[in-house]
Amino acid sequence: MKLAERISRITPSITLGLNARTLELKAQGRDIIAFGVGEPDINTPRAVCDAGKAAIDDCIVRYTATAGTPELREAICGYVEDVYGLSYETNCVMASAGGKQVLYNAILATAGRGDEFILPVPYWTSYPEFISLADAKAVMVETVAENQFKMTPEALEKAITPRSTAVLLNSPSNPTGVAYSRKDLEELAEVLKPHDIWILSDDIYCALLFDGHEFATMAQIPGFKDRTLIINGVSKTWSMTGWRIGFAAGPRELIAAMTKIQDHSTSCPNAVGQKAAAEALRQGHSLTAEWVASLGARRDLMISLLTAIPGVTAVTPQGAFYLFVDVSAYLGKAGGPASTLDLSEGLLVDGGVGAVPCEAFGAPGYLRLSFAVTEENIREGVRRMDNYLTSI
Ligand code: PLP
Repeated sequence: MKLAERISRITPSITLGLNARTLELKAQGRDIIAFGVGEPDINTPRAVCDAGKAAIDDCIVRYTATAGTPELREAICGYVEDVYGLSYETNCVMASAGGKQVLYNAILATAGRGDEFILPVPYWTSYPEFISLADAKAVMVETVAENQFKMTPEALEKAITPRSTAVLLNSPSNPTGVAYSRKDLEELAEVLKPHDIWILSDDIYCALLFDGHEFATMAQIPGFKDRTLIINGVSKTWSMTGWRIGFAAGPRELIAAMTKIQDHSTSCPNAVGQKAAAEALRQGHSLTAEWVASLGARRDLMISLLTAIPGVTAVTPQGAFYLFVDVSAYLGKAGGPASTLDLSEGLLVDGGVGAVPCEAFGAPGYLRLSFAVTEENIREGVRRMDNYLTSI
């Protein structure tokens, strides 16, 4: 018996692999400081948990409409109006089992065999896999640290061909934390204007911004609402990664196509999670604003400690909770690690620190470190990194 050919095209998730390895070492009693985790370090707010509990008590546990309950879709519309200043009808929004399923639905709905999907590098680890599962081709657009890893209009222009079907933007970005400004997006929009290309805008970190940086997304650029899909979710903003609710807002035909796919994959997002997510969206960012403010200070602490290690550099992220750290100075030495994959294995096993090797994001030479950890762990973890790196 054989497995389908597409399985051989999928690379196992390096981030989930690292997580599993960290848990394994911890279970053996090893003291590991985990900078690799992509989750907030707070609990889901109490009011949101209470809404989920009430749903169970009231037996709201059956299938819902594929695109989500009317209550959740109204909450999505209200949230998008508040945060983006954009108004959508309820049939132009839908909910799925996490932002991940939204993305998968959206890519399957916009790309197929022979189509090209434009993807700035570094990218979130699952994007190329989704594109490959859709039998489409990812056209990678390289970016540079000097331009804060943002795609330039010139590079975008070069990547466009008659086969281009969509471009994927993620701001603030996982793994770099860099966020596009309104001006950056206007410049990209000028290039996209004459082309029939969808814009998929993964805004899952939209509430996690520092230094007064204002959130901007392509759907807000005049003329682009009708060709942009907003992708968002409750996982990061309200620390609800296990509730599995993400959502999309966009053109009616695209939402209808994605709903059709979801009809035959998961039927609907889970009913209890929908109740909790509706509460989070109605109450808004204020529920976790204090935590977001505390992230800014932890970012600054981590950057200052890390960049004091000789040869280590990092761009200052405007959002999310990741530092994208250049450790290439420590690669290729005699007897030392040849790649960041090797380096992260040594750092975990010998140094006691979990960090994601950015081969996972198309960017060898870098590690992704989460600063959604305690100050104490930042200090101790960076001290261990310093020791490990100087021992190479
Ligand atoms: N998009 C980005 C950039 C992410 O980092 C993640 C999660 O790490 C997701 C989407 C998916 O999040 P979820 O499926 O938990 O909503």
